[in-house]
Amino acid sequence: MTKMIKTRLLVVGGGPGGYVTAIRASQLGIEVTLVEGDRLGGTCLIRGCIPSKAMIHAAAKFESVQSAASDAGTLGIRVSGTPQIDLAETVRWKGGIVDRLSDGVAGLLRRAKVQVIHGWAQFTDAKSCNVRTAEGDVAITAEHVVLANGSEPVELPGLPFGGAVISSTEALSLQALPQRLAVVGAGYIGLELGSAFRKLGVDVTVVEARDRILPQYDAALVKPVARWLDRAGVKLHLGASVTGYDSGQLLAEAQGATLAIEADQVLVTVGRRPRTQGWGLDQMGVDMDGRFVRVDDQCRTSMRNVWAIGDLVGEPMLEHKAAAQGEMVAEIISGKRRRFDPLAIPAVCFTEPEIVTVGLSPEEAAASGEDAITTQFPFFANGRALSMEAGDNGGFVRVVARKHDGCLLGIQAVGSHVSELSGEFALALEMGATLEDIAGVIHAHPTLSEAFFEASLAGLGHAIHI
Ligand code: FAD
Ligand code: NAD
Repeated sequence: MTKMIKTRLLVVGGGPGGYVTAIRASQLGIEVTLVEGDRLGGTCLIRGCIPSKAMIHAAAKFESVQSAASDAGTLGIRVSGTPQIDLAETVRWKGGIVDRLSDGVAGLLRRAKVQVIHGWAQFTDAKSCNVRTAEGDVAITAEHVVLANGSEPVELPGLPFGGAVISSTEALSLQALPQRLAVVGAGYIGLELGSAFRKLGVDVTVVEARDRILPQYDAALVKPVARWLDRAGVKLHLGASVTGYDSGQLLAEAQGATLAIEADQVLVTVGRRPRTQGWGLDQMGVDMDGRFVRVDDQCRTSMRNVWAIGDLVGEPMLEHKAAAQGEMVAEIISGKRRRFDPLAIPAVCFTEPEIVTVGLSPEEAAASGEDAITTQFPFFANGRALSMEAGDNGGFVRVVARKHDGCLLGIQAVGSHVSELSGEFALALEMGATLEDIAGVIHAHPTLSEAFFEASLAGLGHAIHI
């Protein structure tokens, strides 16, 4: 017999968008039911942000032990013997972190008294869905529906997933390292994971359709990453169009020539698409915006009391955007006045070295008609960076500020560990800080954040340490 549930708020998806919506709504006294067909935590916790950063960390650790063992290390640390990596063990360790976080989300939802239904929601109209669960069928009707169905990897024609052709999901759970890995797409995932595999000793070749790597970032920010790839021996084919994989070779066309790249495995990372198929979205009568569900600045869809958030509604497809939208929607449903209007959504690329951007780049500032100044401070002049072997990879912090009042328009950095500066950068922009404000804050020594302080001083014309 079908179990019937009537609820005030139905949240579809237990990723960062969905579970944050559910917890915040519950805090505000709203009765919530959340449906998740896979594991709680979504792409980010189960097969995205966290597992990828765990594998990147393990790879960096392995590389540093290897460098000590090969006498290439410069710190006086010596390791005898040949360091080994047992990838299955590394993946088990990563799995432990994922389990802990997924269980943590389950615990948070339990404590918030959110009713969690495990199964795939299939919608029959805008406010009703059926879920097949291990305990039987459940029919849910709701006053409000929040769609947080997330995204999935894009497949290339001629290169379907399966066998040796894998997506990031499989790449994060390999039991053994391939000897030769071809990566298709030099964006976030391709370069984060491609670099990690290279550090683990894999022979990596990257094939990118555009004429540059990380096309979402400006050339100056990408340069140190390109330099690392080159020095690490990652082979790069730009402007290449992949045609297929046959007999252990990835086939591509580049500048009129045919490439045949030897590869035991092919990791396809050419973007992600919103998960809009197979769960009855077409029965809900919501308008689309290209591939994405169309929403306004409150994440309302065209259907009354149906909301959509996160990867389902567009770029940037980032965890912190999904979570921020979820929190906002819960508050609007509870009667608060909110709009999704952030000045800046920070973006971090966990390559070698890392890239952080918040707000406008110099080119974007110019294109938007701002009369802006751009100044930067290099990590080679920062004591903390030097003390962490992070001073010589071409990294810097850059600030873009309005000329007439010094108001910050954008802050970018490239360098080891700079991801941890993203919070200060975002805070400065959201608080409307000026160059004088940053220069007036005493930054602790020795820290990488002093480079932000110095870049701001440079904007005022009086940097001290350069
Ligand atoms: P998701 O996390 O995709 O969650 C959607 C959930 O809905 C899923 O659990 C799915 O099972 C469920 N679902 C879908 N349809 C149904 C249905 N019909 N019934 C029941 N359940 C359903 N972002 C960052 O900000 N930083 C990073 O470092 C980062 N690294 C990443 C690395 C990788 C390898 C990948 C793939 C992504 C990464 N991302 C990163 C992106 C980030 O994971 C996503 O932006 C984020 O997870 C989006 O959250 P969401 O809640 O919108 O969707
Ligand atoms: P991406 O958009 O970052 O990069 C895709 C790359 O593939 C681009 O450089 C594109 O030019 C290239 N490409 C497209 N079609 C191609 C083809 N046919 N042949 C060769 N190259 C091709 O996408 P992604 O790396 O798959 O990541 C998906 C999304 O996941 C990201 O956009 C981001 O939103 C999110 N993500 C974020 C992080 C982070 O925040 N650190 C990390 C991983 C993923």
